Amino acid sequence: MTTDSIDGPHPIARRGLMLILSSPSGAGKTTISRALLKSDGNITMSISVTTRPPRPGEEHGKDYFFITEAEYHRMVKAGELLEHARVFDNFYGTPRAYVEKQLVEGHDVLFDIDWQGTQQLKASAGGDVVSVFVLPPSIEELEKRLRGRAQDSEDVVRKRMSRASHEMSHWPEYDYVVVNRTVEQSIAQVNSVLVAERLRQRRRAPGLVAFVNSMRGET
Ligand code: 5GP
Repeated sequence: MTTDSIDGPHPIARRGLMLILSSPSGAGKTTISRALLKSDGNITMSISVTTRPPRPGEEHGKDYFFITEAEYHRMVKAGELLEHARVFDNFYGTPRAYVEKQLVEGHDVLFDIDWQGTQQLKASAGGDVVSVFVLPPSIEELEKRLRGRAQDSEDVVRKRMSRASHEMSHWPEYDYVVVNRTVEQSIAQVNSVLVAERLRQRRRAPGLVAFVNSMRGET
């Protein structure tokens, strides 16, 4: 376990947390994640594996690890994925080793995964999980954003729009809900969640025991 800057120059060791951001495709969660990663030195992104082909501009090892179905099934069987799910027509999963190492070292990990993966992580690692659902400001805006992206065919856009209402029905399963009216406000709100969750006593207990004992003259 290491430390971060929430206590200023004398940080107290804590375990990392798992911050999940879920939303229907196009609600703006990627923009929020990028801003968070840029502004906060103690959170890293969990890079998923997927069997879907890369979109223009996407990089292997940065956006996803693009793998074959055979490799995906091998990883599932070998227990190398912390959670995995079929989303649309493709398979996705979270590599286990990276996440576990980060948490033990006291680093927080950010996840861009769907409600199925969130349910699995809550079941297997509930105490470490903080989940945030990002809603679009309106269905019209969601459609506009999906079309503005211009990377998917009309068929895919239509399919995603019909999935959006189903995905949005899962908001009550999340700890926090952010309505993405402006990117700045949403980033500030997710950041507030992160700051508060880092201060939870159960995450900090090991470091706090030593800290308080030292103030009380005990070892
Ligand atoms: P896209 O193909 O547009 O990048 O992602 C489609 C959906 O898959 C998004 O809702 C995204 O959050 C979800 N997703 C991406 N990676 C994972 C993963 O590792 N596990 C799960 N359960 N969902 C994922």
